[in-house]
Amino acid sequence: MTTADAHTPPPGRGIFCNRTLNLRSIHAVGYDMDYTLIHYRVDQWERRAFEHIRQRLSARGWPVDDVTFDPDAVTRGLVIDTELGNVVKANRFGFVKRAFHGTRALQYDEWRGVYARTQVDLGEPRWVFLNTLFSISEACMYMHLVELLDARRIPEVMGYPELYAVVRRTLDEAHMEGELKREIVSDPDRFVELDPDVPLALLDQKTAGKKLLLITNSEWDYTAAMMKYAFDRFLPTGTTWRDLFHLVMVSARKPDFFSTRTPVYEVQTDTGLLRPFPTGFAPGGVYHGGNAHQVERHLGVGGDDILYVGDHMFTDVHISKSILRWRTALIVRELEAEIEATVRFAPDQARLDGLMAKKERLEFAFSQLRVQLQRGRAPHASDTTTSAHELERRMGELRQEMLELDSAISPLARTSGELFNRRWGPLMRAGNDKSHLARQVERYADIYMSRVSNFLFQTPFVYLRSPRGSLPHDPIR
Ligand code: IMP
Ligand code: MG
Repeated sequence: MTTADAHTPPPGRGIFCNRTLNLRSIHAVGYDMDYTLIHYRVDQWERRAFEHIRQRLSARGWPVDDVTFDPDAVTRGLVIDTELGNVVKANRFGFVKRAFHGTRALQYDEWRGVYARTQVDLGEPRWVFLNTLFSISEACMYMHLVELLDARRIPEVMGYPELYAVVRRTLDEAHMEGELKREIVSDPDRFVELDPDVPLALLDQKTAGKKLLLITNSEWDYTAAMMKYAFDRFLPTGTTWRDLFHLVMVSARKPDFFSTRTPVYEVQTDTGLLRPFPTGFAPGGVYHGGNAHQVERHLGVGGDDILYVGDHMFTDVHISKSILRWRTALIVRELEAEIEATVRFAPDQARLDGLMAKKERLEFAFSQLRVQLQRGRAPHASDTTTSAHELERRMGELRQEMLELDSAISPLARTSGELFNRRWGPLMRAGNDKSHLARQVERYADIYMSRVSNFLFQTPFVYLRSPRGSLPHDPIR
């Protein structure tokens, strides 16, 4: 085994590159915390968040006692259509490819009828993109409430958009009022999936001379408790998570952090009290609020000298890239399960590809016969070498062959469309095409990976090159 083989990560633990990135030349690496440096057990965290929404709606008199959380009801990257009360999956062009109304899957004819002329445009308020794993509880609750609304069981007059606004506001309150966070902090073993390699990957980067920044929307108390829990035990004796970071920015209010000039305060770390900002950042300091311009000025670098790593498609990656031109990395934990499922399915995928290639050949032959028949019947008929009867006989044979082929293709295609999530299929694909999420990832994330510790395999010195990629007109694909 060569040294390279010994360090080759499993397929799901790679760093995938859209835009070539030389990590050696990156001066500073900013990290988001929740679902980036710290991974939560989605089932547990989102179930609690769902419960909090449920209790609040119940207190409002809504009949939600029987609604239950299903972590597989939705996946990141789906889109809520707040106008029609649906959840949809769109392909890279924004065309809808699957849809649920409430918790019911719409049949092909139903969703085709509704969406044939519609393109999902995330710039319109109608559509809500599920940007992060934190979106799962909200979408799952919305699906249940749509059914209650349809059954006229919600004791308030409202439509689907207003219903969504209530869910959004209620989840916001649950996140911000502290009770949910207190539950997490008091029992982190239940909610956090520890990864000993994350602190080590950061240690490598720091030792290699990179300035590390923690930029999180979480508040100081929560950040301190969670980072201590998830990092300190894995760091060299006598050091803590604080020693890794050049700056810690909490309550950062991303995405505004990247675009506005929000004021900054210094956090008194023992009491959590805020002090006016001194004249400048002190290395190792903890700050509340603030903005990216200040950070760039302090570091004396900007744009493509800084890499920001986060899990939120819009807040962490889209905005930091479009406004500041920072280099970006998206953390998509689901990739591990998705890639595993794809690897397991590979032999069937090869069979499916073979059958599809055969189908294309038969379709081509069928069209040739059909056009021969058409020409033979036309008044200007020139090609009459084969009788119409013979052409029809051969077409009949081909039709039969294609039908048999279809019955072999259908179950394979169905299984392929159910990989990763039975209802919604793979995160990154919509049928044969890329999903809307995959398109966003391609546009805004220079690199993407399942977890921060994948950096450990690649070292802080890696030169990540994007693959040449294929184009539909490539002679050999
Ligand atoms: P970050 O990912 O480290 O920037 O932190 C995300 C923070 O935003 C966590 O403290 C979450 O509790 C909070 N958060 C996530 N989703 C919502 C939401 O829908 N409303 C308000 N806060 C949220
Ligand atoms: Mg996050």
